[in-house]
Amino acid sequence: MKFVLVIPDGAADEPQSSLGGKTPLQGAVIPHMDAVAASGFIGQADHVPASMPSGSDVGTMSLFGYDPRKFHTGRAPLEAAAQGIELGPLDWCIRCNFVTVVDDKMVSFTAEQIPSTLARQLIETLQRDQCGNEHWKFFPGVSYRNLLVYRARNTPAPFGPTTMTTPPHDITEQLIAPYLPQGPGAELLRELMERSKSLLTACPANAERAATGSHTATQTWLWGQGQRPALTSFYERFGQRGAVITAVDLLRGLGRLLGWNVIEVEGATGYLDTDYAAKGKAAIQALKDDVTDFMVVHVEATDEASHEGKADEKVRALEQIDQHIVGPVHDYLRSQGDYRLLICPDHPTFLRTKTHSHGYVPFAMCGTGLVADRAVTYDEIAAAASSCRLDRGCELMPLLFQNAMSQSAVSSLSH
Ligand SMILES: [Zn+2]
Repeated sequence: MKFVLVIPDGAADEPQSSLGGKTPLQGAVIPHMDAVAASGFIGQADHVPASMPSGSDVGTMSLFGYDPRKFHTGRAPLEAAAQGIELGPLDWCIRCNFVTVVDDKMVSFTAEQIPSTLARQLIETLQRDQCGNEHWKFFPGVSYRNLLVYRARNTPAPFGPTTMTTPPHDITEQLIAPYLPQGPGAELLRELMERSKSLLTACPANAERAATGSHTATQTWLWGQGQRPALTSFYERFGQRGAVITAVDLLRGLGRLLGWNVIEVEGATGYLDTDYAAKGKAAIQALKDDVTDFMVVHVEATDEASHEGKADEKVRALEQIDQHIVGPVHDYLRSQGDYRLLICPDHPTFLRTKTHSHGYVPFAMCGTGLVADRAVTYDEIAAAASSCRLDRGCELMPLLFQNAMSQSAVSSLSH
């Protein structure tokens, strides 16, 4: 049997006045997602524990069947895995943003999308400054997204679970002082951030960019720290060999840590202009091979539309996912035999707040051995009327693989 999970990132939302009181899922024309709901069943799942920040790192971990309360250590270690950076059991990985701080306020958490070539030079400058220190190793990434690794070298790192840092995208236009690192090892992180100020100012290429009036990098911002998560491989856990299509590093990393094949698709951008059809085709191609039992197709565009507060773009992204991914993939699955298909976002992203939220997301699941409920559309309101509600979203993945599926089994898992 083949299994597919389609993740429209951040798709869950609230009713919009601009959409005549409908949610984007209700307002979008999505016949193929509706068909999944109509031939199967729908419900609600909560993938982000209240005690944790809402984001794809937490949400997708739960969606893949791993309780984030138990397995999530931080965002940076997932990005390290995506880049092929090995972490030792005592090492820590920390996200190192280049940011623009003016008058003690976070003006740009991306240093105005700093070019990768400049970012790389700045990373080299920071590394040179640590010459002789055996612990710190900087890794350049793409644009403002760089990583810093604390190599423990057999001595425990000074950080711990109570070390607190703040994502810089959460404090745009705010004073940074209250959000500097706190807790064990925080003074080390603060010191590195403080040191970066003069180092970046002294870098000629950076000074040149600043002189053009660009919001260039004034300092680093360290956050998202964690250790390599102790994840059991997906195959060991569920007996299925997985593959993932995504344009987002976090999901690539998580996929690698779970032992999945990460399939790169040309034209997948992680943005509204992504090549939806190429993703759909690549998913079908992967399902045809003999090494993929479980295919995950992740699309970031819906989340991005919410971050930009564009309801019409969110609707359009949903329609593209429906037409170019859910439709063709479902057709293929039906044509080849036994299958199950699941659609579920990782977390809600509200157009109103332009950011991630906690709360339930709607899911729809159909396929071999699944009994249909009465729902005929896939959206938040229909899902809320379902008797299936998973407060622990990580219980959804076992449902997908459950062999003798019956509605009573579903009901027994709902609260
Ligand atoms: Zn997002």
